[in-house]
Amino acid sequence: MSKITIAIDGYSSCGKSTLARSLAQKLHYNYIDTGAMYRAVTLYCLRNNIISNSTVDLQKLLSELKNIEVSFAYNTLTKTSEVLLNNEHVEKEIRMMEVANHVSAISSIKEVREKMVLLQRQMGKGKGVIMDGRDIGTHVFPDAELKLFMTADNNVRTQRRLDELSSKGEYLTFDEVKHNLEKRDHDDSTRKESPLLQAEDAVVLDNTDISKEEQVEFVIKLINDFLLTRDSLVEKI
Ligand code: C5P
Repeated sequence: MSKITIAIDGYSSCGKSTLARSLAQKLHYNYIDTGAMYRAVTLYCLRNNIISNSTVDLQKLLSELKNIEVSFAYNTLTKTSEVLLNNEHVEKEIRMMEVANHVSAISSIKEVREKMVLLQRQMGKGKGVIMDGRDIGTHVFPDAELKLFMTADNNVRTQRRLDELSSKGEYLTFDEVKHNLEKRDHDDSTRKESPLLQAEDAVVLDNTDISKEEQVEFVIKLINDFLLTRDSLVEKI
């Protein structure tokens, strides 16, 4: 079966990575969580006083950018790729609220984006990749064969994120989490560099009332339809 590039963009915590992971396992594709990359850079900045009192020291960040190495390693237990910051596994640390509160500021910096996009294009050049983020269908892979734009009701997204955080031992209020999601959506959508936008040819998936299984089924049907049309072959996954 020929492999394609699948770009999944959308708002914060609307289930992009859950869907992308399930699809990657089912299709034997590589999954790249580009949000994790920006979170890893943010973690570096927090650890190295590039961010202090919520202010980013841009000069220091630019001079240290060459020392920030972000990569992925496949975890055979969780059957998914996990992000590494200078060869250290940081999957848990990057999900903390402190990182979430500063990541939009870091991801709006042109030089940071250029470095991450270069890596993302290298990782996706062989096809058979599912990448999720904010600018994958519009900027990183504008020629992706399948583009999804995901959204969901704000309260539903907040509850999902709250559950995820509390399962990791971080207890916040509903309003704190909702505020973070809405602020990030606003900042990500209004920034100058590659803002979060729905690509013209993206299929919108609002998963407020759709189960995980239904979402996977929906996307697999889209892939089959695409392959049938493109190759005029009856390829079934
Ligand atoms: O997907 P996730 O919520 O982990 O992304 C964290 C942040 O990383 C986003 O709020 C956004 O600021 C940034 N991001 C981005 N471009 C991407 C992926 C994520 O700017 N492709």
